[in-house]
Amino acid sequence: MSEPIAFSLPSDRRTQAGEKRKPLRAYERLSPEPLPPRRPDWLRARIPTGKAYLETKSILRTLDLHTVCESANCPNIGDCFSRHTATFLILGNICTRACPFCDIRNGKPLPVDPEEPRRVADASRRLGLKYVVVTSVNRDELPDGGSAHFAETIRAIHEIPGARVEVLIPDFLGDEDALRTVLDARPDVLNHNMETVKRLYKRVRPAGRYERSLELLQNVARWTPDIPAKSGLMVGLGETVEEVEELLRDLHAHGVSMVTVGQYLPPSGSHLPLERFVTPAEFEHYREYGRSLGIRQVASAPLVRSSFHAEEQAGQIVFVS
Ligand code: SF4
Repeated sequence: MSEPIAFSLPSDRRTQAGEKRKPLRAYERLSPEPLPPRRPDWLRARIPTGKAYLETKSILRTLDLHTVCESANCPNIGDCFSRHTATFLILGNICTRACPFCDIRNGKPLPVDPEEPRRVADASRRLGLKYVVVTSVNRDELPDGGSAHFAETIRAIHEIPGARVEVLIPDFLGDEDALRTVLDARPDVLNHNMETVKRLYKRVRPAGRYERSLELLQNVARWTPDIPAKSGLMVGLGETVEEVEELLRDLHAHGVSMVTVGQYLPPSGSHLPLERFVTPAEFEHYREYGRSLGIRQVASAPLVRSSFHAEEQAGQIVFVS
């Protein structure tokens, strides 16, 4: 990565049974253009510090919960944890896939913890969250892909008076029953990230399928029109402006009403290399373009992540009544 993030997970959380480091592999850059020597000012994130930040960490540790904020080394962790906000990572922190952009470990996952949904709800209460975002690793080895565990977690959170829940789900290998299981638990927003444009799928999401992910989103929009379908992508991986526009058109055509666009930042030198820093003006273009298509909510800015200020984004279209 161009600028190392100044913190890492405690080593005891990095070395659970079955956990592996991704194989080191040299990914060639696609672009002949050199990168600037330092990260642009618009990508400077808040340093993780302060009482609220430490309280958030302490609650998560006490309840033995994972967050994607820590497991994926999100640059916004200082901002989010200081607001007592986090995105829970359920079904463990070891993924059955090895996407080369992602910092989450891959390997043989641990058994599913049936108490985890209750602990996620407990942490949400202690953090005072009224909008809870939950995601997971891929659990392709489970017959239901972990969908029943998602549903349990949604139900546990809904027991908190006034709490809403957004889930960011895997593609469940296209298993429609798994998607129905999650939707039957009535999340307030259903998110599934496309991550990148069609041409770059093999490179960026080798175990994913562009059409399969679009179909999942379309099923959400068709089966549960009152649950917004949301998706997100990273830019700076070698895509062109026209390809991003095509993806936004595809998302709109498949019923997606909320989109996030953010700058890709490689977690390390062994991940997919950065091709370019996308300018704020280009992010603004994607926002305007998506809105002009009729996508109701487009959050597009360098540090946007699918869960960054998710409550505000959802609040603009979901909770207006
Ligand atoms: S943007 Fe999302 S993943 Fe990143 S720190 Fe905030 S809540 Fe966590």
